[in-house]
Amino acid sequence: MLTSWRALTLWKRVFIGLFLGIFIGLGLHYGLGPEKGGMIAEKWIYPFGQAFVKMIKMLVVPLIATTLVSGVIAMGDPKRLGSLGMRTIGLYMATTFFAVWLGLAVGTIFQPGAGMGELISGGAQGVDAVSQKLAKSGAAQKGLSDYLLTIIPSNPVKALANGDVLPIIFFSILMGVGILLTGEKGKPLADFFDSASEVVMKVTMMVMNLAPYGVLALMAWVMGTKGLGILSSIGKLAAALYIACFLQIILVYGGLIVKTILRLPLVRFFYGIADALGVAYSTASSNATLPVTISCAENNLGVDKSVAGSVLPMGATINMDGTAIYLGIIALFAAQALGIDLTFGQYMMVALTATLTSIGAAGIPSAGLLLAAGVLSVIGVTDVQSTLIIAFIFPFDRLLDMMRTATNVTGDVAVACTVAKWDDQLDEEVFKAKSVV
Ligand code: ASP
Repeated sequence: MLTSWRALTLWKRVFIGLFLGIFIGLGLHYGLGPEKGGMIAEKWIYPFGQAFVKMIKMLVVPLIATTLVSGVIAMGDPKRLGSLGMRTIGLYMATTFFAVWLGLAVGTIFQPGAGMGELISGGAQGVDAVSQKLAKSGAAQKGLSDYLLTIIPSNPVKALANGDVLPIIFFSILMGVGILLTGEKGKPLADFFDSASEVVMKVTMMVMNLAPYGVLALMAWVMGTKGLGILSSIGKLAAALYIACFLQIILVYGGLIVKTILRLPLVRFFYGIADALGVAYSTASSNATLPVTISCAENNLGVDKSVAGSVLPMGATINMDGTAIYLGIIALFAAQALGIDLTFGQYMMVALTATLTSIGAAGIPSAGLLLAAGVLSVIGVTDVQSTLIIAFIFPFDRLLDMMRTATNVTGDVAVACTVAKWDDQLDEEVFKAKSVV
């Protein structure tokens, strides 16, 4: 029994954990009642989920720092960095552009906010708590130049300690370039980072063996505390988001990128990222998923370390197509609920701010929703109204967050494969072969 469980590939175990978790959570919620079942899920099951999330989060900083430095060293020539960087950013922007318009189109067709005006003002709970959270995230929302400046760490050690991903990326790239340019004298450090990145990857795989249980606990917690009610109150919003995200994944990443640009088998791509999808969906955090994303891209899809180690950490931070879709849909939800007629100019403004906000959002749970106020303000929603809307959605956001995070992560991998292919760093034999993890 135990051996056959271990013989299953990890993603299968992850999905079994996911479904069992849903099953157990719903059993608790409806078997023991929302109060008691929810309490058990929160008190006795959630800590296991949290432990798993903490363990993967623990790996994010060591993983980015080591894989990025050794990734840059593996490029062998600092000149390659420029073209790689431009292509990466260009592709990230392009996929987000599709995402925003897709979200706006689906939101216009589905009208998730129609008839919600009354409900929002009557049904928003915890408005105070949400306004406090908003105030905090509002403080983090800065102008573009301020944002760009935060990428340069004033103290790299502090950036490592705080887990500030972009400054760590910036410093690690520079370190890698420095080691390359130093030549012979830099060799010991190059070997050190190479060995360190291998070791951190190994530790990641060890932790990943716990994923099925962590995912089970997280799903049982969501379903046990919220039950299926999570679907009914925001059913249309959830449907619009899920459909738009599925379209983005299938049409843009699958059809356009994997089939048309890469000319590689779709099925292999999705099998290859199944672990990352399961973890992204259950943790709702691109950052926490990063170690798994990197390992899927390298081991299952044949993306060279020099590309996976640099493109993916960046993607987890700046490329959030699911979040961009979501922000567009929320803007439409608000406009429909409040009876605001949007002009074409306002659509454009929503698209632009949704794109920028998705770039600025951190890869952590609920980041997208907390930053929605900025997008809502461009269509004339007042602060009070946007707090109400966000407070209304907040209790159900987890279900939405899971889907947009899975989309965010899929987008990162699709772009990493493309950059790798263009740079001759994609091992297509590995891509086409059966997944190894
Ligand atoms: N949770 C998402 C992520 O980590 C961000 C969001 O809230 O949209 O990718």
